[in-house]
Amino acid sequence: MQKVTSVRALQEIVSAVKANGESIGFVPTMGALHNGHLSLVGKAKRESDFVVASLFVNPNQFNNSKDLENYPRDSKRDIALLESVGCDLLFEPPVYEVYPEEDTREFNFGTLTQVMEGEFRPGHFNGVAQVVSRLFDIVMPNRAFFGQKDFQQLAIIKQLVKICNYDITIVPCETIRESDGLAMSSRNQLLTEQHRTVAPVIYRALTRAKEIAKEIDIAELKSSVVDEIESTPLLEVEYFDIVDGLTLESLSSLSQSSNPVGAIAVFAGEVRLIDNIIF
Ligand code: AMP
Repeated sequence: MQKVTSVRALQEIVSAVKANGESIGFVPTMGALHNGHLSLVGKAKRESDFVVASLFVNPNQFNNSKDLENYPRDSKRDIALLESVGCDLLFEPPVYEVYPEEDTREFNFGTLTQVMEGEFRPGHFNGVAQVVSRLFDIVMPNRAFFGQKDFQQLAIIKQLVKICNYDITIVPCETIRESDGLAMSSRNQLLTEQHRTVAPVIYRALTRAKEIAKEIDIAELKSSVVDEIESTPLLEVEYFDIVDGLTLESLSSLSQSSNPVGAIAVFAGEVRLIDNIIF
């Protein structure tokens, strides 16, 4: 695996690959890698000739400075993991390479950014759109791979591609879970032992909701998920909603949408976990 930290070095390699007629698959990450990230790289390898991964903790998407400070970082381990799955090129830039000057762009994604994560993490998705568009401009991939775990982010990135006319195919990748159902996340390593023990209740409540979805109305369904999680000590639900998978509009019945998704954010102590399920 080649490693570069500058835009210039990256573009020299990428241009040569493209001149060879080969396609570029891109996997943006913030590091602290786990099997979820590696599955994206695996899919990118199967669907492209040359895979670029980026490792960049984007300061613009953290609406809480403590969260940015505490974000887990382990570049050495990440490099070894990327090498083990056959990533071709790692881009690990310093902040000034991604943002040579302050990025003041304000994106308008309408309701997509006003609900759920957008409501509880103001400015977060604008920062995500800034970094993803900068990285797309730098890497110019043919395909880019994103996890369905960050389901709202995926919807927004698809919209970003439309708004900015990027000639890039966005490839959604399934959520990879621990054996007890907890969605893999870099933040899981920040959980205390007690919080880690109860965290699988989140996905259990979502799967149970899916099982009974046809039997009860949506309001009852929502409160059953919230009740199940909140009756577990140490877990506190920030939001749970059932929305249309494309527009993210809240549904008043499941039949209103051909792709209903239940999306949740839960605090396990200081650590905020998100997950979702397609109904
Ligand atoms: P992050 O490093 O958290 O910004 O995530 C980088 C990419 O990995 C994003 O596209 C995420 O959606 C994806 N990702 C994170 N966790 C998982 C997971 N458990 N399964 C699949 N993809 C994931």
